[in-house]
Amino acid sequence: MDINTLIAIFVFATGLCIGSFLNVVALRGLSGESIVFPPSKCPKCGKKLNWYTNIPVISYIFLLGKCQFCKKPISLQYPIVEAANAILYLIMFLSFGLSLKTLFLCAISSIFILICITDFKEQVVLDVHTYILIALGLLYNILHLGSITILESILGLIAGYLIFELFAHLGTLFIKTRAFGEGDTLIAVGLGALLGLKMLILCAFLSLILQAFFAIPMLFVKYVKKKNFSGASAIFIAVAGIVSLKLVNPDSTYYFACLLAICAILLLCLFEILRNLKNKTSESLSYMPFGPAMVVSALLVIFFSKQIIGIFIG
Ligand SMILES: [Zn+2]
Repeated sequence: MDINTLIAIFVFATGLCIGSFLNVVALRGLSGESIVFPPSKCPKCGKKLNWYTNIPVISYIFLLGKCQFCKKPISLQYPIVEAANAILYLIMFLSFGLSLKTLFLCAISSIFILICITDFKEQVVLDVHTYILIALGLLYNILHLGSITILESILGLIAGYLIFELFAHLGTLFIKTRAFGEGDTLIAVGLGALLGLKMLILCAFLSLILQAFFAIPMLFVKYVKKKNFSGASAIFIAVAGIVSLKLVNPDSTYYFACLLAICAILLLCLFEILRNLKNKTSESLSYMPFGPAMVVSALLVIFFSKQIIGIFIG
């Protein structure tokens, strides 16, 4: 085995262990418990876990996803977070080698994962996570690890704040509440500091598309379950419209009809997201929260910004 493979295995294993720690940090951050003190325990029965039932991913598979004491199912969140963190660390190492850039991007990936956990679980973004992201973003460019200057980084930070707060307040015109939380603005501020204004705008655009991409199938399932067949068929027609765009002549009236159908479905998704925000219904979450959409977009932009711009501009 050559040295690079050995390091790659080490990086992956470190990613698994830190991923395991991230589960604890996120959950105790939400509940306000201390990170260091209480040892790992089953959230259902409270029994302390042995070291051999606390190995990332492997223990979950070995225990068949159940607590060894009370046999209650263990949340899939644990192995998913561990695996995601390890895979991201490995991707960073394979892309940028053993470098300071890799170290920073690994730390930033872990913050992204923390944001995803708290946003998916309780629709909140904790300030401590976004503050670390902002600090890492600035430091990343102060150390010249990225492709933008320090000035562009600071500009991205300020512009991110102003643009996102403007849109958040515009929401009050329509639903009498902010369109999204202050936590989401702070994510944008961090990404602005990390990637600069241009890439931040690309991230925001991409995250809206990601949200629509996930909202369409989730809405379809929800409508079918509720036997709302007009809603379900509306989505079906819209998806057919999107597919047809590729097949029909751009000059025909049919193309125009397709575009109309797609606009209708995007409005429907937006309406559904706003309705969810207004009612704060977490159990019937039929959209991808904004935080996770933004951080996934940021990862895509870090690796594929040229290709993504190419798709939109041609
Ligand atoms: Zn238990």
